[in-house]
Amino acid sequence: PALVIGIDGGATHTAALLADAATGTVLGRGESGPSNIQAVGVEAALKELDVAVAAAFAAAARPRANVAAACLGLAGVDLAEGLDIIGGWAQRVGLADHVSVANDATLLFAAGTPEGWGLAVIAGTGSIAFTLDRDGNDGRAGGWGYLLGDEGSAWLVGLNGLRAACRAADRAGPPTRLVDDFLKRLGTTDPRDFIPATYRGVWDRSAIAGLAPLVLEAAEAGDDVAHKLVVREVTELARTAATAVDAAKLPKLGLPVAVAGGLIAGSPFYRGLFVEALRGHGIHPGAVTVVDDPAVGAVVLARKAAASR
Ligand code: BGC
Repeated sequence: PALVIGIDGGATHTAALLADAATGTVLGRGESGPSNIQAVGVEAALKELDVAVAAAFAAAARPRANVAAACLGLAGVDLAEGLDIIGGWAQRVGLADHVSVANDATLLFAAGTPEGWGLAVIAGTGSIAFTLDRDGNDGRAGGWGYLLGDEGSAWLVGLNGLRAACRAADRAGPPTRLVDDFLKRLGTTDPRDFIPATYRGVWDRSAIAGLAPLVLEAAEAGDDVAHKLVVREVTELARTAATAVDAAKLPKLGLPVAVAGGLIAGSPFYRGLFVEALRGHGIHPGAVTVVDDPAVGAVVLARKAAASR
């Protein structure tokens, strides 16, 4: 049968699905590491894309081959620069007859909002707010990456938690259980071990983003420092989303919202705070759809492309 590939790539994980173009049945799933070219560099990102695709074919027990259509939704790809890099790679490896590349948030409309329009919000390692109106016009706010923005992302929640823990360890900032939580995570008793772990050791960007769930847990348990910093990030992400909704002139009542990413899809606590903050901007979502597997949206788009050829 004709095959399609759908890929969702972020700053921590990449997932590739090999599917039957006619039925949409997933034949194989491949996983790999970060494929955000802005976060890990072009070479490393392309390698991870390749690993995920190879793993999907292997899981389907099929020899790797050119497929009918491939759709890639990737963090860090918005501009012609990134599109060219990914498009060039797809051509070099003979990925598919038809290849489409877009930002990872675009997958949420195919996978999440049943109407195919509305607001898509990602809060994983990175974050972004993306809009699509009924006429197919898109818009965005946020998504500037880990140095320039990414409000409400796991990276910023983890990093700010870590910074607050260092201040607390000095007694220069208010006490927080995060010190003990992070010590336990690292398997040590001396906060100064945070230094080599962060600059030369196991705590790379993904691992620091991986501290975010500990910060959420502490916030939910009533730790004041953790709670304040989570609320600050969620508030900023909601402001970002509200700005995108306003710019796109989307209806604020009954707005279809789709969310993805470890923080917002993974934590009902975080999601609840986010929706509450949206209401503060007069936005009342109709439904909030949690998209656990945005790669499924990529398969939907790839099948459409294959069918229209
Ligand atoms: C990237 C965006 C991406 C977002 C969500 C940000 O770090 O800059 O391109 O959409 O993360 O993955």
